[in-house]
Amino acid sequence: MTENQKKLRVVVVGSGPSGFYAAEALLKDKEIDARIDMIDRLPTPFGLVRGGVAPDHQKIKSVVKVYERTASDPRFRFFGNVMLGRDLQVEDLKRHYDAIVYAVGCESDRNLGIPGEDLAGSYAATEFVGWYNGHPDHRRKEFNLDCERVAVVGIGNVAIDVTRVLVKSPEALATTDMADHAVEALRRSKVKEVYLLGRRGPLQSAFSPKEIAEIDELADSDLVILPEEAELDAASQAAWDKGVDANEKKNVEFLQEVAKRGEGTKDRKVRLRFCASPVEILGEDGRIRAVKIEKNELYEDGGRIKCRGTGTFETLEVGMVLRSVGYFGVKIPGVPFDEKAGRIPNEAGRVLAAPGGAVSSGEYVVGWSKRGPSGLIGTNRADSQATVENLLADFRAGAIKPCAVPCSDETEKFLLAKQPRLVRFEDWKILDAVEIKRGEDKGKIREKFTDIEEMLQALEGAKAAAS
Ligand code: NAP
Repeated sequence: MTENQKKLRVVVVGSGPSGFYAAEALLKDKEIDARIDMIDRLPTPFGLVRGGVAPDHQKIKSVVKVYERTASDPRFRFFGNVMLGRDLQVEDLKRHYDAIVYAVGCESDRNLGIPGEDLAGSYAATEFVGWYNGHPDHRRKEFNLDCERVAVVGIGNVAIDVTRVLVKSPEALATTDMADHAVEALRRSKVKEVYLLGRRGPLQSAFSPKEIAEIDELADSDLVILPEEAELDAASQAAWDKGVDANEKKNVEFLQEVAKRGEGTKDRKVRLRFCASPVEILGEDGRIRAVKIEKNELYEDGGRIKCRGTGTFETLEVGMVLRSVGYFGVKIPGVPFDEKAGRIPNEAGRVLAAPGGAVSSGEYVVGWSKRGPSGLIGTNRADSQATVENLLADFRAGAIKPCAVPCSDETEKFLLAKQPRLVRFEDWKILDAVEIKRGEDKGKIREKFTDIEEMLQALEGAKAAAS
């Protein structure tokens, strides 16, 4: 390899965990001189660590220290407030970079496809999460917290997060980095009971043992499980007898213990129901009044335990429904998209022109946009490394066509022409300090800016004051 052949210019689109892990892996290669630009549509970096992780899970957020280390590498640049598909196009990126790594996550959600889903008071959990985390896309949303009972559909960790936020004492959230508008709304909330609805049984719970235990430990709320629903059905029992993993075992044993305890005495209740699928959301005057659920039975099919309705129905009086049945990708103009799977079609991180189609040279994908919305933050490290290994192998094999304008200064000029108010990593650090200061003044960890224009103005103000 000649000196020239070793230079590799990469743009990472998206600044969440998978994007930062991809950058980290690229910078680690000793032979190749990788130069990385990371762009993000928001002025702020870190994706779901900022906009998704629950405000009362600050320890998880400390992972940004690892990303800050990557950002401090002189071969790395961050450009926030620039959006692919709006400010610039894929063809622009191909002119300025040898390779593109999409790390765009899954920004939308799946729906249930049942009648009444469009009623006022029916929302995606992703919207609620974005709202309480002060994400600019969701800050203006309003949620009906004026009701006593809520149904959360799905029993993954996102469902657990939103349930916890609904029943936890607002005072315990007020000192976190939860957006003020959410803390205020939760202080006024009348919600006393949350039905957490799993369509399959205890053995198929998607939450982690630690997360469900946290619900059980809440000061103001009891976790309530019907003893008959905590028992394993025949198909699950057969799976159990064959052997289950440590998390499945922990979950089942814990849930069966909780079921023995009955109602409890606390003011609020989380009613975890199993084998219950919503079939209709019922309204009155355009608002939700109840959700009709059908009891399911479980059966084994090709090694997977599935559910089907039994024709037995129950109506739960609720004023709000949050569906938490998985995130879903959003198509970016010019980027291949698998409409059915909701992600970018790929083979081990190499982007395909269409699902099952040919490899699109120089384009790669990591994280949820690669494999779908699964796994914890740390899962993305190995996953991004695997994509980067393929990228570097392609580069070494000469399978990546060099870009037309391989000059960092030219790229920056080009980006500035497309978006004059670019936010660099050092700008973000200024904004970060302003947010922390705003938080200190209120006894909080941080008070986020939730509006893009407000962020840009605060940044410009802080820079003007410092100069
Ligand atoms: P998830 O773990 O995939 O859970 C989705 C849930 O929705 C499952 O219970 C699933 O049931 C259910 N579901 C799907 N379609 C349904 C339908 N039509 N009707 C009823 N229920 C349906 O997804 P997630 O909760 O959105 O989390 C995404 C990822 O982020 C996960 O890997 C999660 O662990 C991670 N995360 C972690 C944390 C944390 O560590 N604190 C916090 C948040 C998120 P079936 O199993 O029957 O399909």
